[in-house]
Amino acid sequence: MALRFLKLLAPALLLLIAAGLLIDPVAQLPAAHKLTLSQLPYALATGVALMAYGFNRNQILFATLNLISAYLLIQLGLQVSLDQPGAYVLFSALSLLVPINITFIATYSEKGLFTPLGLTRLGGVLLGYILLLLLWSNEALAGQLPNLPTNMFEMFIDGRFLSNMAAVFFGVALITNLIYFITQRGYGSTGVLISLIASLGIFIWFDQPNISTLLITAALIGMGISVVQSSHKMAYLDELTEIPARRALQDKLATLGKRYTIAMVDIDHFKKFNDTYGHDIGDQVLRMVAAKLATVSGGGKAYRYGGEEFTLVFPGKDEAQALPFVEQIRELIANYPMYIRSDNRPEDEKKGAQMRNNKANADYTSVTISIGVCEKTDEYADPMAVIKEADNALYEAKKNGRNQSVAAHYKPEAPKRRRTRKDYA
Ligand code: GH3
Ligand code: MG
Ligand code: MG
Repeated sequence: MALRFLKLLAPALLLLIAAGLLIDPVAQLPAAHKLTLSQLPYALATGVALMAYGFNRNQILFATLNLISAYLLIQLGLQVSLDQPGAYVLFSALSLLVPINITFIATYSEKGLFTPLGLTRLGGVLLGYILLLLLWSNEALAGQLPNLPTNMFEMFIDGRFLSNMAAVFFGVALITNLIYFITQRGYGSTGVLISLIASLGIFIWFDQPNISTLLITAALIGMGISVVQSSHKMAYLDELTEIPARRALQDKLATLGKRYTIAMVDIDHFKKFNDTYGHDIGDQVLRMVAAKLATVSGGGKAYRYGGEEFTLVFPGKDEAQALPFVEQIRELIANYPMYIRSDNRPEDEKKGAQMRNNKANADYTSVTISIGVCEKTDEYADPMAVIKEADNALYEAKKNGRNQSVAAHYKPEAPKRRRTRKDYA
């Protein structure tokens, strides 16, 4: 589990560390280069915002707008000494506004941008910055210096630039963000967390040259990666079963070589199952079957083909080589006591496992699958033809009584049925 969190955050953390290491080299650059570099976040933010909007990742869109608005004000008003009253007020206001916005953004679930809620959120993110920009351009900030509470002058870390008050606001943002990050483990909350880490770094190390440019550039690249990863997941993983979906199968089929075997899997009497227990239990069965299929060995890979049909792909194997692995999975599923969750379902896994051993329990049922298997041959040379022939074999398996695998070419043993007179005719 910790590994999953690390996997989500690793690219951004590496980028932020790299940005930190670039502080000195960048400080040596000629002024013209530094000026160009300082424009980079605007271009990146535009790209990430458009991408986030295009892929409907509005949480990352808001986090991007929050960062780039703060950056704009830092570039406009804070390239001077913080000893200037106006600059100190602007700095202090930003050190609260950034974490306040992130706290809200962390709790947002995906909603369309052009809905009343979406537009309200957009306005909420931008409002504080617009007000600050107006006050700054009217030179109205310096006069507010005496009104700042003392805990905005006391620093949380000696010699650093995070005031006690800002530290509390960042603390709240961090806790809120971590709760959503840990419970959702999604790319949206990862993107928001990246923006939080970067902005916290900017305030703490505010005295470092070009710190805002460097950290925001790194954060925006990390957030862009999150958008790409989340849309990749949306396109390639089946939402219900969380195994690769049809699109991933199409990609896999395009990479198959000279020899491979495809197995088409269909749940037996699934309609009856749905009718008896309801659609939700039907979905649970789909998830269970998918989870078992995903454990297939022998180099096979499982995909949800659609509905209650799945596909197993075995690269480099012929029917005879793939069949034992297919049969292993078929038996695994047939022997798995499926617990029909009711209101009194056991919450803890141990109790659930105990109950699964108790076959007499009326809440258990089992599910079987039928499988049609076909290898690539000269006759069935392209994947679609192989799938079609595997489907024919699946039809045979259904006709022969279900809960079995039938291969298109390979027959492991003679059919075990009594010969009838017709056979001799
Ligand atoms: P057979 O053994 O011949 O395959 O019988 P069957 O009932 O499984 O076959 P049929 O194709 O008639 O029924 C498939 C059913 O699968 C119909 C549909 O209600 C159900 N189904 C398809 N997709 C889903 C899904 O995502 N969730 C649920 N709960 N049911 C689904
Ligand atoms: Mg079917
Ligand atoms: Mg079926």
